[in-house]
Amino acid sequence: MKRLTPKELEDYEQRLRTMLAVLTGDIDRLEAEALGDRGVPHEVSAEGGTDSYSQEFSLELLERDESTVREVLQALDRIKGGSFGACEGCGSMILKERLKLVPHARNCIECQRKEEQGLL
Ligand SMILES: [Zn+2]
Repeated sequence: MKRLTPKELEDYEQRLRTMLAVLTGDIDRLEAEALGDRGVPHEVSAEGGTDSYSQEFSLELLERDESTVREVLQALDRIKGGSFGACEGCGSMILKERLKLVPHARNCIECQRKEEQGLL
């Protein structure tokens, strides 16, 4: 199983914390996006940002409800516990493309589909 690098984990943790702040109403989206750009460590502070997923990740995708808040909190727990990025259904690594869009995803796309179809 390919593990995420500490740098990647750090980035995801930052995303999740920003999401959480937005979800709980601590900051508004514009502020969060600005914070997200500023907050990436070890990045050359060039204007425009070289952070490859700041463009892909959109806070617009966030649903402001309690279950999303819970999932974000659980994702932060998984970062602490070292299981972040692994699918809860089959244990394989969730595709990075998916994690970039949905950092709080619990399942890989395949298992997510099964769950939606009621097969799990
Ligand atoms: Zn899976």
